Amino acid sequence: MARYTRMDHIRFLLEEVHNLPDLFALNKFQHLTWEQAWMIVESAKQLADRDMFPYFREMDEHAVHYDGSGNVITHAQLKTIIKHGAEQGWIGGGASMEHGGLQLPMMVFNAGHHIFTAANNGAIGYMGLTAGAAALINSFGTREQHDLFVPNMYSGKWQGTMALTEPQAGSSLSDITTIASPIGEGFYKIKGQKIFISGGHHQACENFIHLTLARIEGAPAGTKGISLFIIPKYWPGDHGLISENDVFCAGDFKKLGQRAYATTHLVFGEQDNCKGWLIGEPNKGLAYMFQMMNEARISVGMGAVSIAMAAYLASLDYAQERTQGRLPSEKNPLNPPALIIQHADVQRMLLTQKAIVEGGLALTMECNRQFDLAHAAAGDAKQEAWLLLEILTPIVKAWCSEQANRSAALAIQTFGGYGYTMDFPVQQYYRDLKIFTLYEGTTGIQSLDLLGRKVSMEKGMALQLLLTRIKETIDEANTHESLKAYSNQLNIEVQNIRKVLEHLNRNAGNDADRYLSDATVFMDLMGCLVVAWQWLKQATSAQVSLSDRNFSRQSQSFYEGIIHTMKFYFRYELPHAEAYAKTLMNPDYLVQVKNKQLF
Ligand SMILES: Cc1cc2nc3c(=O)[nH]c(=O)nc-3n(C[C@H](O)[C@H](O)[C@H](O)COP(=O)(O)OP(=O)(O)OC[C@H]3O[C@@H](n4cnc5c(N)ncnc54)[C@H](O)[C@@H]3O)c2cc1C
Repeated sequence: MARYTRMDHIRFLLEEVHNLPDLFALNKFQHLTWEQAWMIVESAKQLADRDMFPYFREMDEHAVHYDGSGNVITHAQLKTIIKHGAEQGWIGGGASMEHGGLQLPMMVFNAGHHIFTAANNGAIGYMGLTAGAAALINSFGTREQHDLFVPNMYSGKWQGTMALTEPQAGSSLSDITTIASPIGEGFYKIKGQKIFISGGHHQACENFIHLTLARIEGAPAGTKGISLFIIPKYWPGDHGLISENDVFCAGDFKKLGQRAYATTHLVFGEQDNCKGWLIGEPNKGLAYMFQMMNEARISVGMGAVSIAMAAYLASLDYAQERTQGRLPSEKNPLNPPALIIQHADVQRMLLTQKAIVEGGLALTMECNRQFDLAHAAAGDAKQEAWLLLEILTPIVKAWCSEQANRSAALAIQTFGGYGYTMDFPVQQYYRDLKIFTLYEGTTGIQSLDLLGRKVSMEKGMALQLLLTRIKETIDEANTHESLKAYSNQLNIEVQNIRKVLEHLNRNAGNDADRYLSDATVFMDLMGCLVVAWQWLKQATSAQVSLSDRNFSRQSQSFYEGIIHTMKFYFRYELPHAEAYAKTLMNPDYLVQVKNKQLF
């Protein structure tokens, strides 16, 4: 079977770089040991090898489709994937035991989801969505709401969705118009339409629990008037009796990629008979939904590098089989051709991919660790983890998804013409990946969040904390002679961030449009630095094992490969940070918000 992920790298990140074992000292995770946690991750690989990866291409070729009368037809294997995934705890595993979960650290749960996404990204989305929707009910719903919906969601019988987007309101959720009219006891009559709703209807589940944003009649305009509702396709009743709610699936969007994953158009209340149940307090819906969206943003970043990982490994394997041409130093045309991996340019493409996918995966694991600390630690450690997570979330979403697209393009380039054909899977990875820069907030929206909100939040404390953590890694790396040149390089680049921010503040004055006009370039700068931090962290861990000659966990060549890739990132990628800083500090204002005549 072809490779789609690297278990040695996952283990290195969990065990050595991000110290999963020390989480088991926290009360919340005391029921686990490292050995058990690793067995759980290995079981995910077995499940993915058996149920998911063999169907990856087939599920794309036999895409989901709408039957014209309310049903979305899915591949038969989807039901097996959800059933077996649920049985092994891959929907509810991250939830607390009180809520019927396994109380796994997110580092473990998402290590499994990384494997699944690399194996078959179109299929795993259904389970991730249900997990997120159930978590939202657990956090903000009542016990009654939990008991009525969550157990069937965790068993995989019922699908959860997030229903936010409307035809006129995508990036700007403040403009949603779905309306909710009170009918008493926390229930509302719902009327409106939602588009692009993933997993909104399909054949693998019996019921669909739509976590839906709507506006209660008379609510304030904008984000302050948005509430959150549970709108099931079928209402469960006493003794398991079920009645149909007025939720109609009006279509399924045909797409560039992720063709195994339904993207539906839902109509609520066409017969004036759609009932929704308010979660929490009125008008707080968007704040609640942000819990799901923030977790989903980390998952989207992770999902993107997972797919790019599979594309990288496919191209790496191909490069070791395909022969073509000869090295510039070989003058004899009668000598056999070289393997393409021997060409420097092919090595550059492979190393760029490795730097992106392993750097991105390290960053997503950093976020998972901060998520675990934010939920399980106490005092300052908890508060600091929250702050770090706040500032890292838009970066992990935007950087990983953008760079994963670049990485998968290089996978095709490594294949040459064959990569563009349906004979190999890299074209599918490339198609599947594009959506990751769009859903859960586009790259532009993540960048506005980073520069407009996160950088200044809590009087700049989140940014300060991030820079302090980067400095700690720099100091640690500095204790190894072989890493000093790299820690010094990162130190210089990090100093530039303050200069950039001072410049933006000074130059824009009170002009918010101008201040934020290059937010995406600022995102490029921050992403480039944060991933350099993760590479220095990985290289330091690898150097410790190499210096101690401790090869009980990984081989010597594995650690050497990590250090080599760090050097590659610092030589080929990190210098871009200087160019981004230069662009940001240039006084020319070339993307003037109000000047359409330029086109
Ligand atoms: C396959 C798929 C699955 C999806 N799944 C779901 C789902 O399950 N649930 C759900 O609710 N939604 C879902 N979505 C919707 C998705 O989240 C939106 O498409 C996305 O948020 C962008 O909204 P939009 O398409 O309306 O684009 P628009 O908001 O119209 O954006 C168009 C362009 O303008 C830019 N832009 C918009 N506003 C600004 C601004 N203020 N400043 C700067 N630039 C701006 C954007 O960055 C983008 O480049 C899905 C979409 C797709 C395609």
